Amino acid sequence: MEFNPADKIQDLQYFGEFGGVNPSISDSSTYTFLSAKTMFDTFEGNADGCYLYSRHSSPSNLYLGQALAAMEGTETANVTASGMGAIVSALMQLCEAGDHIVSSRTIYGGTYAFMKNFLPKINIQTAFVDITKLDVVEAAITPNTKVLYCETVSNPLLEVADIEGLSKIAKKHNLTLIVDNTFSPLSVTPTKFGADVVIHSLTKFINGSSDTVGGVACGSQEFIDAMRNVNDGAAMLLGSTMDSLRAASILKNLRTLHIRVKQHSHNAQYLAERFEKDGIKTVYPGLASHPSHELYKSMINPEYGFGGMLTIDVGSLEKANELMELMQHKNLGYLAVSLGFYKTLFSAPGSSTSSEIPEEEQKEMGLTDGLIRFSIGLDNDIERTYNMMKECMKELGIL
Ligand SMILES: *Cc1c(COP(=O)(O)O)cnc(C)c1O
Repeated sequence: MEFNPADKIQDLQYFGEFGGVNPSISDSSTYTFLSAKTMFDTFEGNADGCYLYSRHSSPSNLYLGQALAAMEGTETANVTASGMGAIVSALMQLCEAGDHIVSSRTIYGGTYAFMKNFLPKINIQTAFVDITKLDVVEAAITPNTKVLYCETVSNPLLEVADIEGLSKIAKKHNLTLIVDNTFSPLSVTPTKFGADVVIHSLTKFINGSSDTVGGVACGSQEFIDAMRNVNDGAAMLLGSTMDSLRAASILKNLRTLHIRVKQHSHNAQYLAERFEKDGIKTVYPGLASHPSHELYKSMINPEYGFGGMLTIDVGSLEKANELMELMQHKNLGYLAVSLGFYKTLFSAPGSSTSSEIPEEEQKEMGLTDGLIRFSIGLDNDIERTYNMMKECMKELGIL
């Protein structure tokens, strides 16, 4: 039977201390030991199932990590206080001074800024490449390269990474392939195509209620254990620990992810088709006009669709700003960064979430001024939403 990530989540059940239908929340930062010997063994990493201190692990964080590992088909996972917490700790675990990373150039602005501005301080260099060109990717690899990094569907240009092709290159050169799957939970299972580590910002679709930040790195037991090592583990020592109360609330939201993803995808597909037909430059992986449509179609777990993210280009930043303000005024969505909320969110990435990328480079990668990034919401009647959006576009002379 095909691997279905939502079924894997559903198969996990955890009961609370008194038979509660949700697991009990571990409201403690530290844990008692019955014997001094067990405490010593736990420090040495030899006492599985014992909790030491909640920066290392806590029952609530482990429940959430297990569910996310089940979803991504990895042995285990480590949850963090934010998506950046997962990205930074995974990279710091794998790289040391003198090492090199090959990364997609169209990635989340914060990840880009970390690689471009922060890692050189400790002499880790990154080559940013067009990830859709496998020959260019391979040519960028040096003897010091340790990591190949990409997003399944890139932010904000919605380029699709050929994870299988990238994985072959990574294996050939003995690199760790890290895939940020934040834009495409359930739709894509990167480990099916050979990803070694799968990252999510839980802040987005997975939690889905825009009330917290959170992150996760899913990977092998060996890698996650190394990240948690009390002596030299990046997750343990960099301190990006998720709070147990948040882990418990994100786990509850994860239970409805499959329903939400289907609705996000349904609504985004509808709007993308309509906008394109109206003559608006629209980018959505579910459109036949998307350069990687066929590839993405072959990668997705079909019932979850092509995701909730789309972009349109309305020609100029002024028009983009006018349209976003008007749509917000009509309660069609919010002018806000982030994604995966019940409400549609829109922003102009060039001047917001990707502003870390210099203007010259933005141009080169096709990040235009008039670009609006939409995270399409869970609207009940998407045709009604479309008609209202169309009115806004007509009012501003965009249509
Ligand atoms: C938001 C985001 C991140 C960073 O996550 P935080 O939870 O904000 O730290 C990383 N990657 C992608 C693709 C994102 O959208």
